[in-house]
Amino acid sequence: MKIELSNKLKKLPPYLFIEIDKMKKKARDEGVDIINLGIGDPDLPTLKPVIDEMAKEIYKPENHQYPLGSGLLDFKKAVAAWYKERYSVELEAATETMALIGSKEGIGHIHLAFINPGDVVLCPDPGYPVYNAGTVFAEGEPYFMPLLEENGFMPDYAKIPVDIVKRAKLLFINYPNNPTAAVATRKFFEDTIAFALKNNIIVCHDAAYSEVYYDGQRPLSFMQVEGSKEVGIEFHSFSKTFNMTGWRLGYAVGNKDVLAGLAAVKENLDSGVFHAVQRAGIAALQLPIKWTDELRSVYQKRRDTLVEGLRSLGWQVNPPKAAFYVWIKVPEKFKEANQTSKSISSELVKFLLTKCGIVSTPGVGFGAAGEDYIRMTLCAPESRLKEAVERIRKVW
Ligand SMILES: *Cc1c(COP(=O)(O)O)cnc(C)c1O
Repeated sequence: MKIELSNKLKKLPPYLFIEIDKMKKKARDEGVDIINLGIGDPDLPTLKPVIDEMAKEIYKPENHQYPLGSGLLDFKKAVAAWYKERYSVELEAATETMALIGSKEGIGHIHLAFINPGDVVLCPDPGYPVYNAGTVFAEGEPYFMPLLEENGFMPDYAKIPVDIVKRAKLLFINYPNNPTAAVATRKFFEDTIAFALKNNIIVCHDAAYSEVYYDGQRPLSFMQVEGSKEVGIEFHSFSKTFNMTGWRLGYAVGNKDVLAGLAAVKENLDSGVFHAVQRAGIAALQLPIKWTDELRSVYQKRRDTLVEGLRSLGWQVNPPKAAFYVWIKVPEKFKEANQTSKSISSELVKFLLTKCGIVSTPGVGFGAAGEDYIRMTLCAPESRLKEAVERIRKVW
């Protein structure tokens, strides 16, 4: 029998990190000692109080059945309490919060609630690939808003053609941003709300990196800005904040009608999040801030090591204010030496892998507007970051 993939699946670019993983495995099979600064997956273990809670909860039979619905009320209350304490934002636990099987799950499914064939979804470029994947699965039409350095990597809504704006139903934004590590200004969030209200567009703010910030500068929540609840929701994740990528737990908060739409889709597709995992999530949300302060200081030291190291090579690098990524402009010297290359960011990534055993991510993998950059993560010990810089120095 001939097994043929759907047109939708064929339309998607190969998932970026899978491609890179293949390259990485090949090099590893050849015996190269790889320094992996590719995928954003914390190398440190899940915080201990969270594991302890899971260990307790996993033995309770009441946690073993289908976890139907949009989350345990206790979990939702913990989310609301966290928002209150962290941002002074009031949320009604029952209707204005919901659990997700990781934020990626919610981000990938929300289109199915609101997008009809041909509706436009506004996606950042460069951006997290799932905004576009969800659009394709829902037969929507992505419109990519370039994030330019001169605009602080925030989209310029005035540049979107009028006919596109008219057909737009959903807008994705993401701050602190992956891959550029930019943070949003209050003014940008205010402009977003005005734009959404005027054009009846649902805003989905992806705040996966809200707790990974530096120099004590806490990024804003979209929910802190007046009018946000009227126009949209905010996605949150335990993955990056508490080193819980493998646990699959996230949540969304905000506009109750938008959340109800997402919940209606999910009711038909999944059966919720394992209750023991939700209980562990409650423990995570209730941790004193010093636990995550420690993680931030680890990343901050790594950031300084990598940024200073790359600058010592003459590379132009801005230290990120948040997120665990360094967004690096492809050095002029490399561009000049590779003028015939079809994709300069892919060329540099290949160079770093084959000449230095370093895995990084080409900016173009996040969208055409990322082509002049590569992304390195801070998910490796300082000693490895130093070693990475020294390996580059030898061949640069
Ligand atoms: C990592 C990441 C997520 C996904 O997090 P999960 O909760 O693990 O699904 C969402 N958005 C962005 C921008 C990310 O980088």
